[in-house]
Amino acid sequence: MANSCGILGNDSKAVKIHHLVKAPENTPESVSFRESWDASRPVTVYKTPENLPDGSSCTAATVILRSKGCAWWWKSGCTFCGYFNDVRDDVSAEDMFSQWEYAKESTNKFEGCKMIKVYTSGTFFEDRENPPEWQETVLKETAEMGLHLVVEAQAQMCTPEKIQWVAERHPGCTVAIGLEAYDDIVLRFHVNKGFTTKQWHRAVEMLRDNDLRVKTYLLFKPPFMSEGDALEHTTSWLIDVAPFSDEVSVNPMNIQKNTIVDRLFRNREYRSPWLWSLVEMIKRAHRGLGDSSCRIIVHPTAGGKIRGAHNCGTCDSEVVAAIERYSVSGDVHEFSHLACSCETHWRAELDNDLNLPITLGYGTFRRGNPTDLVRAP
Ligand code: SF4
Ligand SMILES: [Zn+2]
Repeated sequence: MANSCGILGNDSKAVKIHHLVKAPENTPESVSFRESWDASRPVTVYKTPENLPDGSSCTAATVILRSKGCAWWWKSGCTFCGYFNDVRDDVSAEDMFSQWEYAKESTNKFEGCKMIKVYTSGTFFEDRENPPEWQETVLKETAEMGLHLVVEAQAQMCTPEKIQWVAERHPGCTVAIGLEAYDDIVLRFHVNKGFTTKQWHRAVEMLRDNDLRVKTYLLFKPPFMSEGDALEHTTSWLIDVAPFSDEVSVNPMNIQKNTIVDRLFRNREYRSPWLWSLVEMIKRAHRGLGDSSCRIIVHPTAGGKIRGAHNCGTCDSEVVAAIERYSVSGDVHEFSHLACSCETHWRAELDNDLNLPITLGYGTFRRGNPTDLVRAP
């Protein structure tokens, strides 16, 4: 990027604060590392069990493309987003077509799949990020193959013309929007999302007007927020956004390399959420939503690891498995057998967060040797 002068600058005009914050990611070393990826191959292609819009189970293919990346990230970027690690800004239209061909060949045209998620580390239908002729090919081919398509977008990129254009080429597809928080203050100061809840509502209306499905992502525990607040806020956001969404997927924070959250984490100023908090959020939201038809999905990426949502180290795999099972079954009984002594520790942390005047939370590290933990990172 033009302003990639690193933390010391290069005698040119002063750069904006976000360039300084992101300086290490924009050093020539980081840029050349990113550009060492093969632009003619996607980041990854894999299959997972999923549910179709009618609730029936199926296999879904996920294709993550090595695109030019999110226009918002290049301009500023969300505090937790490490997608830029997978993108390169010199990807051509030809590269995008060959990545798509590779995805088809490597899966024998998505054999055995009824659903496909095409993720571009940004907005699928944003013309500066992805060539329109490539977007058109993906929309039409997936519709012809009878696959239910899921793409991602930022709310402010949804315009009536573009949404109509998408709906004409792949009727009924799902558009997933990373709302992260249903609160404008959190969006602005914790997430740096680049759009407001009002813009999200407008985008949802456009999708509904064109009979497209709405998937909403929320982020559990953005930076600068305590565990107790994260539980209370995300639960109420979940209940509030469900009536506007066909599915809500809550993503517990996983600390991605070289992001602002990563810096806080390395400075011992951020801890990823407890798995117990996710279980509690699901139980509360389940009660709050009653018989709403909206599906709640929680996939704890890096669950049980120190950079993902985790507990004490002993009960993690069992709790992660129960959360994953809930995302498919929608049955809160998946949690009834769970128990571990660390639950008391978690409850004490929540009580302190919600009763003591410590804005960023009271939480301590849950694992490791206590002497090592007080040393500088
Ligand atoms: S809008 Fe999405 S892709 Fe862009 S910086 Fe934010 S999280 Fe990352
Ligand atoms: Zn435990």
